[in-house]
Amino acid sequence: MSGIDARPGLEFLWFVQDLCNYKCPYCFVSGQRREARPWLVNTRPTAPWVEAWDRVADLYGPAWIRLTGGEPTRLPGFLGLIGAMTRRHSVSFDTNMSWSRDEIRRFAELVPNDRTTVDVSLHPSEGYMSEVLAKCVMLKERGYKLIARLVGYPPLLDQASRLRSLFGGAGLRFIVNPYQGEWQGREYPRDYTAAERRTIECASTALDPALAEDREQVEIAAHILRMHEESPRGRLCRSGSLYARVMHDGSVYRCQPYESRGWETLGNLLDADFRLRGASTPCRSDLCEFEYKYLAATETVR
Ligand code: SF4
Repeated sequence: MSGIDARPGLEFLWFVQDLCNYKCPYCFVSGQRREARPWLVNTRPTAPWVEAWDRVADLYGPAWIRLTGGEPTRLPGFLGLIGAMTRRHSVSFDTNMSWSRDEIRRFAELVPNDRTTVDVSLHPSEGYMSEVLAKCVMLKERGYKLIARLVGYPPLLDQASRLRSLFGGAGLRFIVNPYQGEWQGREYPRDYTAAERRTIECASTALDPALAEDREQVEIAAHILRMHEESPRGRLCRSGSLYARVMHDGSVYRCQPYESRGWETLGNLLDADFRLRGASTPCRSDLCEFEYKYLAATETVR
């Protein structure tokens, strides 16, 4: 497609659906902390999604697309969808790894390993970690890049060291993501003790500082631990032009804070005339979580 430059660094986060087969005690999206509201179900077949992501490639070039949920792998046709998306883009996706071993073998037949990262969420209250590890090793042996994550929910923190040894010992990258929310009258991440903060920071040392994406993981965790200290409101941000959040129904927001508050959409990815913004625009949020890296330098618009 002429007239529109490819954008190296273009990223999307696709919230595929919020259905999940687990009910984790700390999960606000699909688990026990979920508010009573309608489920965000992806009712489209995979073909229009593949066409939409192909249009993005035609317009802007290859992107990095991160699929999350819920459990995105429970979407009907997921394996074929990822196989088709990786023709034009690089993809990573979250999973609780509750797949069967046959599904792992099938995945390896359909999905190229050089454009795919598997982001494994460890949920010790819902599944056997030894079984998750065995399936991670199957994928690693087939050449996939993986990262294993534990939520830094206070009752889980005493498992961080053991899980880091277990997964790190198998040559897998491991990180603890700070928990965001209430627990026993305390508000996290603000109320982590110094020892709990050290546990989170030390667990992340299983990452490889030579890898840019691993350095980014450490920076995001550090940012979330102190994000209540600084507001991005009024600063120019490249979300919406270099990055966007796509929802289960195709609606596109510049980022998670805009989506969760129902602020303006950028349109619908499934529409043929969908376009990203052409430039940075000011942020109107007082909080930014993992997307803060899109803030443009230190410029403020008054
Ligand atoms: S700084 Fe964060 S909250 Fe503000 S627009 Fe950018 S990504 Fe969204």
